[in-house]
Amino acid sequence: MKISPDIFENTEIAFADKSNGELRKAKALFQLMSNNSLVSLGSSLAGLALSLHLPVSPVFRYTVYNHFCGGETFEQCKKTIQKLDKNNVGVLLNYGVELKEREEDFNKTVEHNLEALAFGGKNKSVKALCIKLTGFGRFGLLEKIQAGDELSTAEKSEFNQMKKRFDKICQVAVKNEVPLYVDAEESWIQNPLDEMVEEMMEKYNRGKCIVFNTVQLYRHDRLAYLQHQIDRAIAGQYVYGVKLVRGAYMEKERERAKEMGYKSPIHKNKKDVDEDFNAAVGLCLDNLNNLYVCVASQSEQSNRLAMELIEKKKIEHNNPHVQFSQLYGMGDNMTFNQAKLGFNATKYLPYGPVKDVIPYLIRRAQENTSVAGQTTRELSLIVKEMKRRRG
Ligand SMILES: Cc1cc2nc3c(=O)[nH]c(=O)nc-3n(C[C@H](O)[C@H](O)[C@H](O)COP(=O)(O)OP(=O)(O)OC[C@H]3O[C@@H](n4cnc5c(N)ncnc54)[C@H](O)[C@@H]3O)c2cc1C
Repeated sequence: MKISPDIFENTEIAFADKSNGELRKAKALFQLMSNNSLVSLGSSLAGLALSLHLPVSPVFRYTVYNHFCGGETFEQCKKTIQKLDKNNVGVLLNYGVELKEREEDFNKTVEHNLEALAFGGKNKSVKALCIKLTGFGRFGLLEKIQAGDELSTAEKSEFNQMKKRFDKICQVAVKNEVPLYVDAEESWIQNPLDEMVEEMMEKYNRGKCIVFNTVQLYRHDRLAYLQHQIDRAIAGQYVYGVKLVRGAYMEKERERAKEMGYKSPIHKNKKDVDEDFNAAVGLCLDNLNNLYVCVASQSEQSNRLAMELIEKKKIEHNNPHVQFSQLYGMGDNMTFNQAKLGFNATKYLPYGPVKDVIPYLIRRAQENTSVAGQTTRELSLIVKEMKRRRG
């Protein structure tokens, strides 16, 4: 079957799970987010209110939270998950609480993730659990390791604790058969993160794929890294799992490189990033015998290209080695149309207490104003569907 060029225009399929009221709410939200100054004012106020422990949760709950998150508890998430499942859309669960610095916080994050793995093990729509390794250990420690600084005895034991936490999560993921997608983070801590993930893949990905790393194609060295990892897994006889993304920290990366006077790890322009992203998709599809890949992108062009390549290479749409994912609350025109065509389509679904997920929500709102095209696109699709329903 040929993938039609206007495959992502079908709003009837895209918003099949949305009532008229939900569409009106989504429209109002994207209109709000298209206002730069409003979002920047709202973000600063929310940041301030959070630091002063003021009650901002209700405002967030009824606006951005409900749109971008699954719920505060697994019970609440179940409803969202069931709704998505009706349209054959799976979920990548993510405990949305970010970056804490104390050992007790890291232990709590482990507990939360173990609960998520138990929930995921019982729920076939949960296709994976997404985790950040900075949830299990200190950012500053990772920075020191990557810089090659000598660690004190206490720091060595701290790092061992971090690895133990990750290993525990992997063991339970294997037991419950829930894949783990490990996020990629800032380039100046990514080397120790990669090493930890590679070690766990080698240990646990025997005959099946449980541990996945993430490769950020906005980095100019990552296509070669990907090829190297594929070769290494073949030689080591383990299964390679990878989530492909462009990358979320471009501005931060460039600023740091400039400030510290080293060559930026990020490609000079978007065209080079797109070429590497698409080449990475091709490379993975050519090596499906030995790897599992998740194409994680909001780009219509990249999603379409991946779908066309799957067709061209005569790979079954529902081949379990290939999955697509977009953020919950965005890109429904891709996810739901992919699912309708039998591809493995998923939503990245954060959950957790409203006040703890606020940093994630602020980022989503800011991203939607900075990627002006994306908001306009979401809005135009919603308006198109509203018009279609009015007949
Ligand atoms: C399911 C899922 C999981 C994710 N996991 C991670 C993760 O683990 N780690 C992570 O970092 N991000 C992650 N992301 C975020 C992802 O990196 C961003 O959503 C992505 O960068 C946005 O790009 P896009 O592919 O959606 O497409 P587009 O909108 O086509 O691309 C935008 C991206 O291109 C790059 N870019 C834009 N302009 C330039 C330029 N001038 N020069 C160089 N590069 C440029 C930037 O990366 C920018 O974000 C994830 C996203 C999803 C949907």
